[in-house]
Amino acid sequence: MQDFLVHDNKELRAAIYEFLKDDLYRPNHYQSMMDFREQTLQRLKKFVAQKFFSVRDYINDPRRFIAALECLMYADYSLAIKAGVHFTLCGGTIAKLGTAYHHAKYLPGVDDLSLPGCFGMTELGHGSNVMGIETTAVYDKAAQQFVIHTPTDEASKYWIGGSGQHGKICAVFAQLTVGGQWQGPHVFVVRIRDDAGRLMPGVRIQDMGPKMGLNGVDNGRIWFDGVRVAREDMLDAFASVSPDGTYSSSIPSVSQRFGTVVGGLTTGRVLIASGGVDGAKMALAIAIRYGVSRTQFGDKPIMEYMTHQAQPVLLTGAPSDTPVDVRA
Ligand SMILES: Cc1cc2nc3c(=O)[nH]c(=O)nc-3n(C[C@H](O)[C@H](O)[C@H](O)COP(=O)(O)OP(=O)(O)OC[C@H]3O[C@@H](n4cnc5c(N)ncnc54)[C@H](O)[C@@H]3O)c2cc1C
Repeated sequence: MQDFLVHDNKELRAAIYEFLKDDLYRPNHYQSMMDFREQTLQRLKKFVAQKFFSVRDYINDPRRFIAALECLMYADYSLAIKAGVHFTLCGGTIAKLGTAYHHAKYLPGVDDLSLPGCFGMTELGHGSNVMGIETTAVYDKAAQQFVIHTPTDEASKYWIGGSGQHGKICAVFAQLTVGGQWQGPHVFVVRIRDDAGRLMPGVRIQDMGPKMGLNGVDNGRIWFDGVRVAREDMLDAFASVSPDGTYSSSIPSVSQRFGTVVGGLTTGRVLIASGGVDGAKMALAIAIRYGVSRTQFGDKPIMEYMTHQAQPVLLTGAPSDTPVDVRA
């Protein structure tokens, strides 16, 4: 079945599955939310220490990148999401939208988890409509810095995975203005906590607390009160600002530029969808095993009853009114 369903990186996947047999990855449904978060962090640290892949694979070998993260879905969704936010949404954004400077400055810290990362796109008032975000980034030519600011509560970054407790850097989407000219949403790497885990000046974060699921992930809400970011920390693969405040981009229109920027981040969304498929695979395996071992009304496994065989044609090719002995 594995050979039939999986087409790439089989050795890597086998190695990760073997590693995930470690006791640290056993399910534990009796712990508090805070303990679960701590356990998720420890799980991620141990996984990262194995160096199964690098954030640079996001560009160089995307199938390897996706395969490694997908394996975590089978161990624990919180771990998979925490890893996905860090490596894909934050690290992948820096890899894709940044250039050599950002790669050298940030990717080693992403790879060894010394710089846990978040992705600050969504705002309370602006989810699907990212173009409508309100967070501002105004270039201060004299200081050669961008000033990142949250003008209203609706503009606070909302649901940001990893920001509630552990995140140290955040890829923040903000509306850029240079020399009084609006240039549309751009992405900035903002330091949100120092090495000791204390909030940086001007950064306010509210822990979003328990959720209906994924309680091993520390989601947060972030406000920026005039936070200053070095000019070099704007991700500049598609647009840049020179020290004297000249904006330049090979893509002339704001909407085309925005499309190029968010289009480059599709891998993260693909991973979330594939996580849903992985969950369905596990559910199907559990349901089939249960169906062939559970007996009712005598010693017949429930799988032999018509109502349990909702799709016999799909599964076996047999006509739908013919009971199928799935043990054969
Ligand atoms: C657990 C969790 C973790 C998250 N982590 C992060 C994170 O780390 N970083 C981050 O930036 N964001 C994060 N998000 C935010 C997530 O990206 C947004 O929730 C998502 O983009 C949708 O935005 P919204 O919730 O504001 O919904 P809305 O945009 O308000 O949409 C509500 C509903 O309306 C539908 N809808 C909206 N517009 C249209 C339209 N034009 N036509 C038809 N239907 C429409 C949507 O499909 C949806 O069903 C997270 C969210 C959750 C729940």
